[in-house]
Amino acid sequence: MNSNEEIIQLTDHHVAATYGRIPIALVRGKGTRVWDASGKKYIDFVSGLAVNNLGHCPPAVVQAIRKQAGTLLHVSNLYHIEPQSRLAEELTRLSFADKVFFCNSGTEANEAAIKLARRYHHDRGETGRHEILSMHNSFHGRTLGSLSATAQKKFHLGFKPLVPGFKYIPFNDLAALEAALSKKTAAVIIEPVQGEGGVHVAGKAYLKRVKKLCAENGALLIFDEVQTGFGRTGKLFAHEHYGVRPDLMTLAKGMASGIAIGALAGTARAMATFKPGTHAATFGGNPLACQAGLATLSVLTGDNFLAGAAATGAYFADRLRELKQKFPIIRDVRGLGLMLAIELDRPAAEIVQECLRRGYLINCVQEKTLRFLPPLIITRKEIDGLIKTLASILGADPARP
Ligand SMILES: *Cc1c(COP(=O)(O)O)cnc(C)c1O
Repeated sequence: MNSNEEIIQLTDHHVAATYGRIPIALVRGKGTRVWDASGKKYIDFVSGLAVNNLGHCPPAVVQAIRKQAGTLLHVSNLYHIEPQSRLAEELTRLSFADKVFFCNSGTEANEAAIKLARRYHHDRGETGRHEILSMHNSFHGRTLGSLSATAQKKFHLGFKPLVPGFKYIPFNDLAALEAALSKKTAAVIIEPVQGEGGVHVAGKAYLKRVKKLCAENGALLIFDEVQTGFGRTGKLFAHEHYGVRPDLMTLAKGMASGIAIGALAGTARAMATFKPGTHAATFGGNPLACQAGLATLSVLTGDNFLAGAAATGAYFADRLRELKQKFPIIRDVRGLGLMLAIELDRPAAEIVQECLRRGYLINCVQEKTLRFLPPLIITRKEIDGLIKTLASILGADPARP
């Protein structure tokens, strides 16, 4: 086995430098723990960015993958694929959706949603309805369509011209939405909880009203649940907290516990837009990923699993609020379920480094916000451990007012 340093050097020499990587190589994981190449153990509050919702190498998923790997890895969507049909059956049974399109990532799911929205209106003779409205601070992915929907300048830099027909409005602002909706609006795309944007939760009345405004206008409502889906917020899908059903929802990250998969799920009316030839993905819905997805769903929907995650999330949020009482450097505590964050009054990257040194993986977004996305099986004891560590780091900060 190579050392952290050897692996880092290999990365630096041969892998495109698209990530500002933390200088460790993770080589093994089990449950809430991961180990680096030196054998050092970390408690994981990142979960591969909301992917390992069941923890690392969940036995039911590993077993399903092992079995399918020896049976059939891939066949084309020219043919019927049983695990794909069964995963679609489960997703539609467990949500508002009637039909599912499978792809391989979050950005691809959003591309599918954007294309579907435009085609939906085109097929109704409304060829001028091509505009997609998205929210400031949103994140929808890195391919050009999803990037064009992502309303954050830093991701656009140097990639213009973007795809035309996208308009950006403030999040949680009804007046702005009302003003922006027109006969040109094909769809509105919203993350129920903005993830990369800093863990900002949509208001309950806001999302309800958004749905009504979209319905009145004739625009489709798309919820990007790529990060919020699969139990992350304490419900299978975040929009269940709101009692609001979109026309379309995009999924990926936690869907198959670490195997690449994505999906666009929607109502029969919206999904009828997709006919043979309108859209495709070679790997989409392959047997291996779908078996991993089925096993993941079966754990997530098991007795009390999601209720447990919601209770753990509430416990974690309480502990973070206590921390805020003690340390004025913490400006805000936000989130839903086990998608939580604290916003500081200063850059937070150093705290990530210090947590790493002390055996905790956490993540920083928008420079000043620490985001916590632990596996849903995280224990109160592990949360207490992180809180104690954060308190010790913040307490030792000489720059603290
Ligand atoms: C991560 C993310 C995406 C992009 O997913 P990829 O699989 O990286 O393409 C899209 N939307 C949201 C809300 C995300 O968090």
